[in-house]
Amino acid sequence: MTTIPSAMRASVLVDKQTVEMQERPVPSPAPDEVLVQVRSVGVCGSDVHYYRDGRIGAFVVREPLVLGHEVSGIVVNVGADVSDTRIGERVAIEPQRPCRRCRHCKTGRYNLCEQLTFYATPPVDGAFCDYVVAPADFAHPVPDALSDHAAALLEPFSVGLWACEKAGIGPGSRVLVTGAGPIGALVCLAARTFGASEVVVTDLVASRRERITGFGATSAVDPGDPFFDPATLGVDAFVECSGATPALLAGLQALRRGGTAVLVGLGDNEVTLPVQHIATHELILTGVFRYVDTWPKAIAAAQQPNTDLDALVTAEYDLEDTEAALNSDADPASMKSIVVVSRG
Ligand code: NAD
Ligand code: ZN
Repeated sequence: MTTIPSAMRASVLVDKQTVEMQERPVPSPAPDEVLVQVRSVGVCGSDVHYYRDGRIGAFVVREPLVLGHEVSGIVVNVGADVSDTRIGERVAIEPQRPCRRCRHCKTGRYNLCEQLTFYATPPVDGAFCDYVVAPADFAHPVPDALSDHAAALLEPFSVGLWACEKAGIGPGSRVLVTGAGPIGALVCLAARTFGASEVVVTDLVASRRERITGFGATSAVDPGDPFFDPATLGVDAFVECSGATPALLAGLQALRRGGTAVLVGLGDNEVTLPVQHIATHELILTGVFRYVDTWPKAIAAAQQPNTDLDALVTAEYDLEDTEAALNSDADPASMKSIVVVSRG
């Protein structure tokens, strides 16, 4: 068994665009928690926003904050109520923590819990550090077939799966995805997992369009192409993953009557919508906020052929180089950077 030290390394956002390494005490698991030695942590756009702007909308960084919420690791200790047979288990952590008592929680919509806390969302620390605690049932065992990086990427993959579930995507569905960033790519993989037969993706950036077919897109289109008319698509589902208002408006035109639009991308807070078009076509329009109970599906899906989460990874950084990882989006070829905290 590994000996657990009393102090650990943590990469801490101390001020806007200032990250420093600090020594912090290793947390102790509460009775229903496990202590996880962190292995791989994906860098998400939200980490980059907190680093650059010190806030995302109403969430403002007021105290030093450890970023990182796409996490895999290994269980090294357990709380009093958790079986110690879990020690040594490789896990992927679902980074949200609902109250489990409110009406949303009781009706299975725990992502909407008003008491919900989340790694790396002020004031809760995330996982750019050696050890984290998590509720035992939110530390999901992962099979050997999945790498530590892939296990960490089950988190953004969960966003894709939940979006596709909300979009009602099933066998034979025809889908439009706008935006071919990491989230768009994971939505494409998720759509294929659910059986979509056609997944059209738009992105302004050629390199992103070229890459996206490797993630299950059946075609990639430049939305500025004069020959591209979204209104001719008539797709069953539209998943907006760019945050760009023109993409949102084009996607609404691309839906068949009765189709569903799912807004994942967060862009302009207020947008003028074609209300008559939405009404007369009975379009369904919804947002998504993270996910509910997606890890079991994500773990199963990620082991299927053609669902290669590792293919998303474009760079690795040591924990000491977290700041470089947070700036890695300057490279246009960057898709997903991973901070490697420890290796198995
Ligand atoms: P990203 O910035 O890497 O990717 C966005 C892509 O959209 C880019 O490739 C960009 O070129 C493309 N784009 C820009 N304008 C476009 C247009 N007009 N048409 C088509 N494509 C266009 O971001 P990401 O990490 O992939 O995340 C996507 C969005 O999802 C972000 O807005 C993020 O905040 C959001 N998000 C939401 C949730 C949620 O729970 N709702 C969770 C995670 C991420
Ligand atoms: Zn609740």
